[in-house]
Amino acid sequence: MRKTFWMSGLLLLVLGFPGFAPAQDGKPAKPAAKLVDTIPTDKGDLVITFLGHGTLMFQWNGKVVHVDPWTSQADYAALPKADLILVTHEHRDHLDLGAIKALRKPGTAIGSSLKASSGLDGAVVLKNGDSKDLAGIRVDAVPAYNIEHMRSPGTPFHPKGEGNGYVLHFGKVRVYVAGDTENIPEMAALKGVDVAFLPANLPYTMTVDMLVDAARAIQPKILYPYHTGDTDMAKADALLKAVPGVETRIRSMK
Ligand code: ZN
Ligand code: ZN
Repeated sequence: MRKTFWMSGLLLLVLGFPGFAPAQDGKPAKPAAKLVDTIPTDKGDLVITFLGHGTLMFQWNGKVVHVDPWTSQADYAALPKADLILVTHEHRDHLDLGAIKALRKPGTAIGSSLKASSGLDGAVVLKNGDSKDLAGIRVDAVPAYNIEHMRSPGTPFHPKGEGNGYVLHFGKVRVYVAGDTENIPEMAALKGVDVAFLPANLPYTMTVDMLVDAARAIQPKILYPYHTGDTDMAKADALLKAVPGVETRIRSMK
């Protein structure tokens, strides 16, 4: 039963977005379609659109959620407007005011780290450990930081306590979007994660070995590596397949 439940989630749909029309001027066309996955929840299907890098769209229970929208990854004018926008931290690949402007409508809720919130009118600031109901979805802000990878000696790319990962509760299905982080000890305390998005690019986030360690600690039912940059995902996939109880799904999320 359980297996059938999750296998049905593997259903892949292809959506044609008007913004991805073939180029007319001889330049390479943007992708004509984006893959989506559909995961059943107790309140209807959760549809995940893999926009690229750290940028995701979730559609569930009549709500549209965008995480770290970035105009380099999608034509946001052609995507559904947001009921909720979540921003993990202030780096330019996660905080893009143009993308947020394109997605906002009256009543859009925005959840953000403190540093990313300046310039975001009406944003709800979430600190590590906060839990809020935003647009009818419970959102837990959790730590996201570097331990080893430093911008300069003593200064991590992502200092502890500044950026957020988010656990979104889509009914009973918990989706963890880790943000820019390494395999931090707090991950072992995350309970009942159904779907995890974990970053794996250097020098900013995790090595493949760190990614595997994080997968073992979190034990998600489904793991999507994202924010993968130049990481060899074939190698990562082979190692992740050896993690018991975790189904790894590789999508194009450079
Ligand atoms: Zn970052
Ligand atoms: Zn990043």
